[in-house]
Amino acid sequence: MASAAASQCYSYSSSPAAWALRQGGGGAARVVRLPSRRRFSVAAAGGGYDNENREYVIVGGGNAAGYAARTFVEHGMADGRLCIVSKEPVPPYERPALTKGYLFPPEKKPARLPGFHTCVGSGGQRQTTEWYKENGIEVLYEDPVVAFDGKTQTLKTSSGKMLKYGSLIISTGCEASRLPAKIGGNLPGVHYIRDVADADSLVSSLGKAKKIVVIGGGYIGMEVAAAACDWNLDTTIIFPEDHIMPRLFTPSLAKKYEELYQQNGVKFIKGALIDKLEAGSDGRVSSAVLKDGSIVEADTVIVGIGAKPAVSPFEAVGVNSQVGGIEVDSLFRTSVPGIFAIGDVAAFPLKMYNRIARVEHVDHARKSAHHCVETLLTSQTKAYDYLPYFYSRVFEYEGSSRKVWWQFYGDNVGETVEVGNFDPKIATFWIDSDSRLKGVFLESGISEEFGLLPQLAKSQPIVDKAKLKAAASVEDALDIARSAL
Ligand SMILES: Cc1cc2nc3c(=O)[nH]c(=O)nc-3n(C[C@H](O)[C@H](O)[C@H](O)COP(=O)(O)OP(=O)(O)OC[C@H]3O[C@@H](n4cnc5c(N)ncnc54)[C@H](O)[C@@H]3O)c2cc1C
Repeated sequence: MASAAASQCYSYSSSPAAWALRQGGGGAARVVRLPSRRRFSVAAAGGGYDNENREYVIVGGGNAAGYAARTFVEHGMADGRLCIVSKEPVPPYERPALTKGYLFPPEKKPARLPGFHTCVGSGGQRQTTEWYKENGIEVLYEDPVVAFDGKTQTLKTSSGKMLKYGSLIISTGCEASRLPAKIGGNLPGVHYIRDVADADSLVSSLGKAKKIVVIGGGYIGMEVAAAACDWNLDTTIIFPEDHIMPRLFTPSLAKKYEELYQQNGVKFIKGALIDKLEAGSDGRVSSAVLKDGSIVEADTVIVGIGAKPAVSPFEAVGVNSQVGGIEVDSLFRTSVPGIFAIGDVAAFPLKMYNRIARVEHVDHARKSAHHCVETLLTSQTKAYDYLPYFYSRVFEYEGSSRKVWWQFYGDNVGETVEVGNFDPKIATFWIDSDSRLKGVFLESGISEEFGLLPQLAKSQPIVDKAKLKAAASVEDALDIARSAL
């Protein structure tokens, strides 16, 4: 956790559950009884602060905030109590859509808001601007928090608003890593994709583009490159590793996907580093220059080289030195009582694997938000026990010759056994030295098969490697693994 010294400068009672918010600038305090018998005192309306709802404040209006809001509503604890402070002009939405349905060409009915506001991703109500209003949730749009004072429990926004909180949930997510401006990282035509504004800007470029370069072979790179195929663009992906999705895929698995991209006309330049991006006479990006001196022409460049946790201005709450992000315990509590962190920005104990982790995936955003708010509003003390889960869906546009959808659960450690030929299924099993199944990947499964994956990854059965290797099909391999449960 963050050092005790860091938390000493904050004022709180000895019992986090009874943490009292100091009154600011007069006004009678209102004492709210919570189901968990926790008692918070919050300043009454007025008092010189710019938020009406002061009991619970969420900073960041992204995926996790949307799911947190839903949990507050489910507990009847949102109305008049919850304020969300957002950098974006729209309510929380399902961010993964931005590199998927959002990038369909105009004639293919691209996803647009409010179609993918939270919580459509998990089958919940569509949380539009009206939903927040109807549920008494105050949302402050386009006004990021720029300063935080834990002693007075106040926040300052970029427009100069002063906000008060009783309990604070930090859900600021991540920001895209950028190429330095001095090597052309800010040139017109160079895109990063994190929010709807970024996606709109990219769509506008794709409409005019002829040659695009995608920098990075991870999620963002692969999803944007797949989308570009539907726009019939000359597309080159450049990355320093030997294959795509290096943090998850084995070389053999990656090869299958790379071949599909190549069949769609995408070119790969592997093992390559960008020296600089150059501008043409119009000032717009015109090429990528590689470290070996070679030049790849491009009128549009999409950079997908990772993301950094958006910890500012909350560094004093405690940042984990290994994984970055605001450090929390298994209930999403930071070292400062009354302050929580969820989603991409939270560095939390990954109980199953006994390590501190940050997980930049929507499933964790949803689950961490729910777990945190349950902790805050009820007497829940159950430790968060997350099973890592990643997925992607690409080439899903109308007329695509081959759709791709895969899921992975668990830990990609140990020896691998691959079954299937990507015709359309393929599965990879990660097995440790004790023959325990640690992780499992499946492409193009049916829902029953995908449903088996978390069971396998969670219970980590001892499997017969030889039998798995000899499996005649992906279905057989899954049956063999199932029988080990
Ligand atoms: C393009 C893209 C595609 C993705 N695809 C997938 C996928 O296929 N599968 C998957 O599992 N995951 C995917 N992810 C990851 C997933 O979207 C994130 O894990 C999830 O959005 C995290 O939720 P969050 O609320 O923690 O952060 P976010 O959803 O990023 O929300 C954080 C919000 O906080 C705001 N903010 C930041 N600082 C401040 C501040 N100081 N004041 C106020 N507001 C602030 C940001 O503007 C943002 O609105 C994708 C992410 C991106 C960007």
